[in-house]
Amino acid sequence: MSEDAPLRASLARLIRTGGPITIARYMAEALGHPTHGYYRRADPLGAAGDFITAPEISQMFGELLGLWAVACWHQIGAPAPVLLVELGPGRGTLMADALRAARAAAPAFCDAAAIHLVETSPVLRARQAERLATDKQGARITWHDRLDSVPDGPMILLANEFFDALPIHQFVRQADGWHERLVGLQAGALVPVLSAAPSPAATALPDTIHDRPPGAIGEVCPAGLALVREIAARLTAHGGAALIIDYGPAASAPGDSLQAVRRHRYVDVFAEPGLADLTAHVDFAALAGAAEKAGARAHGPRPQGHFLGALGLAERARRLRANATPAQARDIEAAMRRLAGEREMGALFKALALTGPSQPPPAGFEP
Ligand code: SAH
Repeated sequence: MSEDAPLRASLARLIRTGGPITIARYMAEALGHPTHGYYRRADPLGAAGDFITAPEISQMFGELLGLWAVACWHQIGAPAPVLLVELGPGRGTLMADALRAARAAAPAFCDAAAIHLVETSPVLRARQAERLATDKQGARITWHDRLDSVPDGPMILLANEFFDALPIHQFVRQADGWHERLVGLQAGALVPVLSAAPSPAATALPDTIHDRPPGAIGEVCPAGLALVREIAARLTAHGGAALIIDYGPAASAPGDSLQAVRRHRYVDVFAEPGLADLTAHVDFAALAGAAEKAGARAHGPRPQGHFLGALGLAERARRLRANATPAQARDIEAAMRRLAGEREMGALFKALALTGPSQPPPAGFEP
């Protein structure tokens, strides 16, 4: 425990008085606590921060997603206005790159777009405002704490590395059923413990996980499922498309995927609440299933490498290289490998698209 984590003391008090808390509660506090939460305190992104994301690796990522948004907009008949929503926009880099590419390709799309950013961090909201202020679009941005305050209408929604930050519940299979994994206290330290009795909440585990033998671990993300249902309901009622990019398996898989990262290294999940980023694998099969149950159509998931390839990543890189110095050209090559390489982000990261029920597959998801 290198540095004092102010949240550890308040979580310890909470557990001392009320008993062990769920992993979901732990994640929600560690990431979202109003004063000590990880995303409330500082900007964690970039080489000098704790982790780096695809839009921070290369402008090509946001540009391709901007062109994807334009293509979706045309598919639904180019409505004006159209809501352009991003969940967890980080530093605003993805949106800035997307708008620049979209404006060059289809100025009418940018004129029609009302931008809504769903972001809880005041620090990152300020960075987003700064980053997007130079864009013509700057004046038409509205911030929200949650998707439910975004107005109704045809919508294009982007979410990169957002769902992996939503709180998960974990269950461990015992001889008598699934017990919930909780956070308890041992000699002043936060430690994982198991609920005394099997948990009725384990019925939420995916069917393919449910019959696993003792020792197996299963995860559920109710916040992610609820959010996808809300997105699906909006797409079903008003049309549009959502693109969810994150890391995780295409099919629901057992195992403990909760991880903590600080300064680009893995750290103990329970050691430094509020100081380390906490994420878990996104269960794409579960999200797609929830969206379809709510009336929308799910497309994919496809590996990020294939998706970006289908959108023209190689061509975009070639064009950028044409005007680049040799050093810049090497950076562009390296960025392309990082985003799309099988052993880098290309295979572990997946892209899942959701659309209204009667819409064709969006760009990059054609069979
Ligand atoms: N999409 C960006 C940032 C990813 S980090 C990128 O790819 O670079 C996760 C982002 O989601 C941050 O902006 C964080 O502040 C935001 N966030 C995390 N949990 C959230 C929540 N529950 N509600 C709203 N925003 C949240």
